[in-house]
Amino acid sequence: MRIMKFGGTSLKDATCFLHVSDIIEKKIKNEQVGIVLSAPSGVTNNLKIIIDKSINKKNIDSEIHTTKNIFLTLLDHINQSQLNFPYNIIKQKILDKFIELKKNIHGINLLGQCPDNIYAKILCQGEIISVSIMKGILQSRNYSITVINPVDTLLSTNNYLEATVNIIKSTARIKKIQIPKKNIILMAGFIGGNENKELVLFGRNGSDYSAAILSACLQANYCEIWTDVNGIYTCDPRQVSDAKLLKEISYQEAIEFSYFGAKVLHPRTIAPILQFKIPCIIKNTFQPNNEGTLICSKPKKTEHPIKGITYLNNIAMFCITTYNMHCIKTITSRIFTAITRNKVSIILNTQSPTENSINIFVLQQNILFIQNILEKEFTLELKNKILKKIKIIKELAILSIIGINKQYRLNISARFFLALANLSINTIAISQFLSNNTISIVIEDKHLINKIKTIHRILFDTKYIAEIFLIGVGGIGSTLLQQISLQQKKLQIKDINLKICGIANSKKLHVNMKGIPLNKWHENLKKENNTFSLKKIIDLQKKYHLINPVLIDCTADEKLAYQYVDVLNKGFHVITSNKKANTADLIYYKKIRLAALKYKKKFLYETNVGAGLPVIETIQNLINSGDELIHFRGILSGSLSFIFGQLEIGVPLSQATQEAKDMGFTEPNPHDDLSGIDVARKVLILAREMGYSVELQDIKIDSLLPVSFNNITDVNNFMHKLKELDPLFTNKVKKAQNTGKVLRLIGTINKIGKCQVKIDEVDENDPLYKIKNGENALAFYSKYYQPIPLVLRGYGAGNNVTAAGIFSDLLHTLSEQSGV
Ligand code: ADP
Ligand code: ASP
Ligand code: MG
Repeated sequence: MRIMKFGGTSLKDATCFLHVSDIIEKKIKNEQVGIVLSAPSGVTNNLKIIIDKSINKKNIDSEIHTTKNIFLTLLDHINQSQLNFPYNIIKQKILDKFIELKKNIHGINLLGQCPDNIYAKILCQGEIISVSIMKGILQSRNYSITVINPVDTLLSTNNYLEATVNIIKSTARIKKIQIPKKNIILMAGFIGGNENKELVLFGRNGSDYSAAILSACLQANYCEIWTDVNGIYTCDPRQVSDAKLLKEISYQEAIEFSYFGAKVLHPRTIAPILQFKIPCIIKNTFQPNNEGTLICSKPKKTEHPIKGITYLNNIAMFCITTYNMHCIKTITSRIFTAITRNKVSIILNTQSPTENSINIFVLQQNILFIQNILEKEFTLELKNKILKKIKIIKELAILSIIGINKQYRLNISARFFLALANLSINTIAISQFLSNNTISIVIEDKHLINKIKTIHRILFDTKYIAEIFLIGVGGIGSTLLQQISLQQKKLQIKDINLKICGIANSKKLHVNMKGIPLNKWHENLKKENNTFSLKKIIDLQKKYHLINPVLIDCTADEKLAYQYVDVLNKGFHVITSNKKANTADLIYYKKIRLAALKYKKKFLYETNVGAGLPVIETIQNLINSGDELIHFRGILSGSLSFIFGQLEIGVPLSQATQEAKDMGFTEPNPHDDLSGIDVARKVLILAREMGYSVELQDIKIDSLLPVSFNNITDVNNFMHKLKELDPLFTNKVKKAQNTGKVLRLIGTINKIGKCQVKIDEVDENDPLYKIKNGENALAFYSKYYQPIPLVLRGYGAGNNVTAAGIFSDLLHTLSEQSGV
């Protein structure tokens, strides 16, 4: 025996009814089935509106008309497709139901109220009609049907709107029906009957509970809940598109999921099937071949550290505080007795650490009712100032993380609370649950959905993520994209997700929060109409609550460099190959570092000196471990190292510069290289890194260029004019060679932080003698490294090494995310 419950979402129109009957037909070939049906989607809500409006004497003609039409249209459409469908009989039944409904409504109108028994009777008409229609379809396909009337069989408590079933007595009643083995069993969900055989309801969404009860009474092998999603997800898939389907979960987890808000199951569904150990499967009516979610005693282990996130909104808090700490226990027990006696549920409760107040959390719709109960119960205490005035806070929500895997408990709690802090979520109360595997927190109900999406991502996404926004797609920027594209898959295996969310040049910004496909970024940026502004990128953080946003600056733009403080302040890490920020005045230099410290973001610029060589990190480590500089000498320009190497073999200066430019070794304007200013900037960065307070203008520079080159900004003009200097340099090189030396442009820093950039002749004993062809060499003579200096040597320019340096910085931004 298999019980199959089809919810309202599975029965929303004629096609759905016929589709469901096909599913039933397929199943009945293998085993007997019991079918529990809800009302077509929306009908119960309409009926509720009709009652509520009638109580307030409002006109309800249009609601009645709409509801009646849902059924008549359904019937007409089924009649067109289903041969032998008993259209007239069912139509008459529906019309009769609506005549009766109008009579009841008239009564409610006169009374100005609706007694619970009438409320219950009206609210479940949709379920009753669904059963008539399904019976009609299956009978016209020649199946024998037994309809179970739940009012006569499911013996329930007396609560008209939230009744509970006595399984043992109901089982005995069902046995008496003696259902033939070949028959399809049909039963309306949502409904039971009390001792007096009066109709009662199981609460909204109660058809799931009906299915569980019927499964228990008929000792079914399976209880299937058919709905409009593939099963239970890690979060409501209609709200969180990244939610993941759970293949198996335990009964306990299912209880917690539904109790804390996963609408896919009614909270009381699990108890009956757990009692009889009946496996329950949640299936999708519209994708019947999908396996769905199995709820059972021993689910297979999943790789997820938690099972899911749920939320309940429209929650209110009652805060009951006593002036007399000793009576809190009695007060607590009286609160619970008074409220539960009135059959209202308390969803959560917490007690203050000072033990003088208790908070209870309830559905907002029950505020007035509970307020009355409490004020009545504590009239004397309130009057005699034993209790403070009861405080009520509305518009709260309960956010829960369900099924925390024991192994990850500490880590998950840490990540969860870190996520809350990052999202500026104010926690009102915290509770840890039942199996210890669920944590619930009470928070304000503002913009909750967006925040849940983020928390879900933080808890379920790969361990390490960076949402990258790259500005500048010249040689370095585009090489970086190419390198990331090649590595993305390999890194994903290591749980590292580098997601390029934005790519910009000086004019346009292309954004794709799901990640820009790196085989097409060029075309996409070209087609893009969105103009570039840094603010647009910064605003994305607020909109999407990014987990680990990183701004990469691969431009030489000074304006952009002056906005890093703002970028850090808005929660982005900053990685830059642009030297302008680190060579700005010391005030701004310090501001950036302070901002990074304050907002706990990284400011990384390893490629500012020596491209991909690990220069900055090495110095920082040395200084932090107490080393002190005695003297520094280095060839810090890849382009000049290349150019001087070429001069050595007789290539004229202008030609050597052109070659360096073609190879991507020079700055966008080679003037910056030859003027020595670029080397000076690097020396400045190194000196500041070593703790010296130096400004760019303090550095003495030996330029390769005479003053007449100062005002040439156009690159072509500059390259042309450079020819004038060819003979001069050929001579200088020859002069040096005559004494066995070579020319080098060298940056130096002395013990007191004096910096210089100069053209020097060096002999073969100098570590810088052999440095050419784009190589850099940095020789640090220090307290720890002497008399032999620490030398870092390698290519100090070029797109590949520089991009790799940025890539390495990027990986450093991941290190602070707590892994699971
Ligand atoms: P039915 O009409 O079949 O009873 P419901 O609307 O009551 O359907 O329940 C199904 C809905 O539950 C889904 O459409 C989904 O939006 C919602 N839901 C909430 N939380 C979850 C979850 N964790 N997993 C799956 N669905 C969920
Ligand atoms: N039709 C009822 C409701 O909408 C019961 C159910 O669908 O489970 O709440
Ligand atoms: Mg439901």
